[in-house]
Parts: sequence; structure tokens; C-alpha cells
Amino acid sequence: MSTSRFSGSCLCGRVAYEVTTSVKRFYFCHCTQCRKLTGSAHAANILTDPVPVRWLRGEQHLKPYDDEGGRAFTHIFCRECGGGLPFTNISNTTLFIPAGSLDHDMEIPVDRNIFWAEAPTWYPGGLGAKRDRGFPE
Ligand SMILES: [Zn+2]
Ligand SMILES: [Zn+2]
Repeated sequence: MSTSRFSGSCLCGRVAYEVTTSVKRFYFCHCTQCRKLTGSAHAANILTDPVPVRWLRGEQHLKPYDDEGGRAFTHIFCRECGGGLPFTNISNTTLFIPAGSLDHDMEIPVDRNIFWAEAPTWYPGGLGAKRDRGFPE
């Protein structure tokens, strides 16, 4: 499988990273944990081979969080702005790259919506709601 190069950062910009790895999957995860974690409808994670992340700056601002409730779950974020950043799962089999943290667009299609059974009822309707380019006119 070919490798792809990813670069991203958190919202406040204190943390930035690069990683070159092979993409395995791209999932939107609708599980309750991802919903609570993001405060939104779903997480958007690129799953790749578990290679080390090259932290370009701000590694001291990283804060890990291991959630023991329900499914074992790890998350890493910037302690200043809360932005999600790449992390390796507990079993060290997969690197998760939060797609929203990337500083570039990419052509990788989303494979699946996982844990759809836990998606809130308002989500599908939201996808069909009127679209404004910025704030509503
Ligand atoms: Zn930040
Ligand atoms: Zn999830």
C-alpha cells in the first residue's frame, strides 16, 4: 500500500505535526464516546499504520485522555485549545489521525459511518439542511 504524508495542527496552533504512513481506513464514528468527545455529531478519523508522529512544535502541550467507560478509548488533545491530534490506540495497532486537524485537503474517500446505531436522530436531517457559504444570509 502506498504511503501518504499528513500535516496538521490544533486550533490555537501551539501543536503541529507531520506523519507519513499508509492509510487503512477513513471512518466517521458516531459512537456516544466520539460524540461526547467532539461535542458534535461524529468523529472523522483516518486510520493508518502505527508509525511515530513527528511533532514539529508544542509536544509539551499534548494531553492524553484514556476513557475507561464502555469501549476502551484513547484521545490526545492540545491542553490549551482542546483540539484533537493524532494518537495510537492502546493495543498499538493503529494510528488515528483526526481528519479535521489536517492543514491540507485530501482525496481520501470516507469508507464507512461506524456505530451508526448510536447516531442522534437529528443528524441525517442536518445533512440535508440549507447550506450557506458562511454565516446565514
Ligand atoms: Zn491548541
Ligand atoms: Zn467513536
